[in-house]
Amino acid sequence: GKLGIALVGLGSYSEGQLAPALQQTKHCYLAGIVTGSSDKAAQWKTKYNLPANACYTYETFDRIKEDSNVDIVYVVLPNALHAEYVVRAAQAGKHVICEKPMAVTVEECDRMIAACKEAGKMLSVGYRLHFEPHNKEAMRIGQQKVFGDVKWIEAEHGLSEATGWRLKKALAGGGPLMDVGIYCVQAARYLTGLEPVAVTAQEGFKHHPEKFNGIEESITWQMEMPDGIVAKCTSSYSEKQNRLLVEAERGWLELSPAYSYAGIEGRTAEGKMDFAQVNQQALQMDDFALCVKEGKPSPVSGEEGRQDVKILQAIYRAMHTGERAVIE
Ligand code: NAD
Repeated sequence: GKLGIALVGLGSYSEGQLAPALQQTKHCYLAGIVTGSSDKAAQWKTKYNLPANACYTYETFDRIKEDSNVDIVYVVLPNALHAEYVVRAAQAGKHVICEKPMAVTVEECDRMIAACKEAGKMLSVGYRLHFEPHNKEAMRIGQQKVFGDVKWIEAEHGLSEATGWRLKKALAGGGPLMDVGIYCVQAARYLTGLEPVAVTAQEGFKHHPEKFNGIEESITWQMEMPDGIVAKCTSSYSEKQNRLLVEAERGWLELSPAYSYAGIEGRTAEGKMDFAQVNQQALQMDDFALCVKEGKPSPVSGEEGRQDVKILQAIYRAMHTGERAVIE
């Protein structure tokens, strides 16, 4: 049968993407919700035909332990709350999916991984692009050296606007780098199958210092990868950017937009990529459900999430010191 998923945090991503995707999944379904709002609980209960005992608050969340319909808890809260709820979910005996970035520090990631291991439960991160055909093709071309060795990567992901907890360092852990720049870090890693060894970074000019108090408005960074590969990346909360470019010895590829929920387009030196649009979130959740059922490791594991957080922290270190930060 299908595995039950409980969504923790019914904000825009849960409402706009995950809950609709759970209407299309084959191996999992929406089995519970965790929210601080009784209005939202009532709305969701009606809309998704949930039983009354499938609705939890943040206070009653730990009782989900007794709920045999819920196999997987999906944490969709502001970044700084991920660690607490992933640990509580593992302690309630549930497998866990955590949204990106996995947490705001590597230490939190370590605690999350340890809690899931201790509970004998699986942990994965909401990296939906691993299930998106254009990005998968880019991984194949890069990792299998279809156009020879990758030489140069450009990755840009920015939003024209950000609001709410995303502007608060204590909840977001940082600015656009944490929220959308992380996709560029992921891309450089999944395009090459290699890990950056060092980074340099520069904070962009702050047009609105009162709004971007304690966080960057924009950032540019460079990642040194093995074999002399360089990735040049930018991220912003005041300029829309969404592109990935790879230059290799005998060819190139570009995804633009590269990271969207829908409408991703790709071309290579050989022409336009021709792939169907998919529901990334449905594929991502189904893959995890199958991993749980079959006991096989998730390609988007907690370790994968931890590695990105480690790199994000090195990028901030480089930005603040102005020095090259080595990633051990
Ligand atoms: P949102 O602001 O729309 O929703 C956040 C939810 O958390 C709200 O329902 C809010 O009520 C709740 N919440 C609980 N405690 C809170 C607190 N102390 N302060 C503020 N809010 C609190 O945010 P979102 O866009 O849904 O993002 C949630 C998570 O999902 C983030 O980690 C984000 O990075 C991630 N996300 C991932 C993707 C993706 O494509 N994978 C897309 C969007 C968001």
